[in-house]
Order: sequence, then structure tokens, then C-alpha cells
Amino acid sequence: MSTLLTVISVNDGKIKRSSLEVLSRCNELAESNGHTSAALVMDANASEIAEHLRNYGPDAIYTIENPIFRNHLNTPVLKALSVAMDHIEPAVVAFASTESSKDVLGALAANKSAGVLSDMSEFDLTDNGVKGKRPVMASKIISSVEATGSPVIISVRSGSYDVSEKSGDASVEAIEFNFSDDELRITLKEIISSSSDRVDLSEAEVVVSAGRGVKDEEGRNLISELASVLNAGIGASRALTEAGDYDPSLQIGQTGKVVSPQLYIGVGISGAIQHVAGMANSKVIVAINKDPDAPIFDIADYGLVGDLYKVLPPF
Ligand code: FAD
Repeated sequence: MSTLLTVISVNDGKIKRSSLEVLSRCNELAESNGHTSAALVMDANASEIAEHLRNYGPDAIYTIENPIFRNHLNTPVLKALSVAMDHIEPAVVAFASTESSKDVLGALAANKSAGVLSDMSEFDLTDNGVKGKRPVMASKIISSVEATGSPVIISVRSGSYDVSEKSGDASVEAIEFNFSDDELRITLKEIISSSSDRVDLSEAEVVVSAGRGVKDEEGRNLISELASVLNAGIGASRALTEAGDYDPSLQIGQTGKVVSPQLYIGVGISGAIQHVAGMANSKVIVAINKDPDAPIFDIADYGLVGDLYKVLPPF
């Protein structure tokens, strides 16, 4: 029996939904293959988070509690992951694909001489490793990838799996971890976060995305209102981030964020391949565009042909 270990991402004391998706998939694979599903929480309040995590059905939870994890810093995170892997000896270590996991994945794999599969959209176990699918070339091609040996380290795109709640009585074990400031090889000087108090785009269940058809403040207000009604994150095409109408951090696409919400609503967006690369995995796609031949309608589940300035208010 092997252990499938999900590393839980925590942001401001909240577990990221994308981590719970990965954990749910690991629970399923562990159950059907006779393995153990474990979760690792590294946070300043790890024991508190572990209690909450019990509602998502891992067999075991490991915690590393240390104030150094208040902000993501590669050196302590890498050291803690290494300590945890030595202790738990997992066959698979699974991360949600986030900016932070991207930062450490390669170094961790090199430290542990492990195979690594990043940014997967699905994964399964093989007799001696992990196989799965990975969208490449702006999601135009889905490659089949496989890594053998133990451990294999993977990261999984958000929205690839559903979250299943499953209460259990997971054991919680605190792993000993010491880290001194002398070991810190980087200094965190300042965190500049966007002033937006909106829903985090990469975690949002609903995304309202604005394109060049949104021409002015009136249009942007309509987008904000729709997003408020739906408790949605706001995204934008590059046309609008380059024009300075939306913050660059809100750009969706090949050179922006990849989102896969339950519902994506594209407003005044043509559906250029570079934009589609960032949202094609959304569960349900709604497009609002005045041009019936706009390419976005080719991938939309529901299309509304009309002028957004007339369509959105009754929406
Ligand atoms: P347009 O293509 O101009 O489309 C505007 C749409 O709005 C049209 O379909 C029009 O019919 C509709 N419209 C206009 N008025 C109204 C109205 N009143 N009501 C309803 N509909 C209306 N783009 C990204 O988005 N993300 C990326 O990450 C990205 N990366 C790129 C990387 C590279 C290397 C390159 C070359 C390009 C990249 N682009 C990216 C740009 C991309 O090619 C497109 O130019 C961009 O996505 C177009 O944005 P848009 O759909 O908002 O604008």
C-alpha cells in the first residue's frame, strides 16, 4: 500500500478550492487502488486548517506549523516539503497548479530525484507511476504524459476535478520542522497586492470576462454589476488589459491566467485562440457578442447574439 500525498495550498487562512479538487481525486484513486490518501498542510495555523480538512476525506493529515509560512518563500517551503517527503515516503505528491507550486516543483523534483508532471488536466495511477493528460500549445494539443518510479510529483490545473465533501476521522500528525532565519536565502521586502476586493479569479466558480466590445465606463459598470450579482471573478481579454481598462493580473489567456470555472461568461470577446487557451476548460461557456460569426460561439454552450449594452441590463 502506498501513500498519495496532496499538498494543500492555503491563502489567507483559507484552503484553496483547487487543492480540494486534487485531494478529492487522490481520495478516489486511493480508495479504488487500496492506497492511503494523505494531505499535508504547511501554514502558520496548520492545526486549525487540518480540522477543517477532515471534511474532505483524507485518511491522514500531516501538519507543519510555523510562522515562516505566512508568506510563500521558496527556501522554507522546499525544506519543509523535503522533510515531509522523507517522513511520509509517498509514492505520489500532488499539488494544485498555482504560482507557488510552479515555483518549487522543479527544485523539489531535482532534490528528490523524482519524476515530475506539471499542469495536468487529468491523472491516473499506473503500475509504477502516474500517467495523464497535459494541454500544450495554448490548449490546441493534449499530450499524454507518464512518469515512472517513486515518488512522482505532479501538479494539476484548477477545475480539472470536482470537490467531494466526505467527513472522516483522519489522523492528524504534526511533523517536526526547524527553520532558522540564517537559512533564508531570500528576503521578502514588500507584498503589493491588487486593490481589488473581488473574488480570486483563479479560484472563482463563476467568471465574467470583458473584451474589446466593452468600450467605456458604462460597459465596465455593467460587467461589475453582473459579476456582483453572480459573486463572480472578473477577467478580461488582452485587448482591455493592454488598453489599461483592466489590471494585467485579470488577463485570461495564453499570456495571462488559465481559469476553469463552472461558468464562464465572455462579454464582447471575439474568441481569439490566445484567449481561448485560458478558458477552454470552463464547464459551461456563455458568449455574448453582437457578431453571430464571432469564433467564441464555436466553443460556447450558450450564445447570445446582441449588443451587450442592451443585453446585459435585463440579464
Ligand atoms: P476583439 O478580437 O477585437 O473582439 C471584440 C469582440 O467584441 C468582437 O467579436 C465584436 O463583435 C464584439 N463586440 C463589439 N461591440 C460589441 C457590443 N456592443 N456588444 C457585443 N459584442 C460586441 N488575448 C487574450 O485575451 N489573452 C491572452 O493571454 C493573449 N495572449 C496573446 C499572446 C500572443 C503571442 C498574441 C499574438 C496575442 C495574444 N492575445 C491574447 C491577443 C489575442 O490575439 C486577441 O487580440 C484578443 O484576445 C482580442 O480580444 P477581444 O476578443 O477582446 O477583442
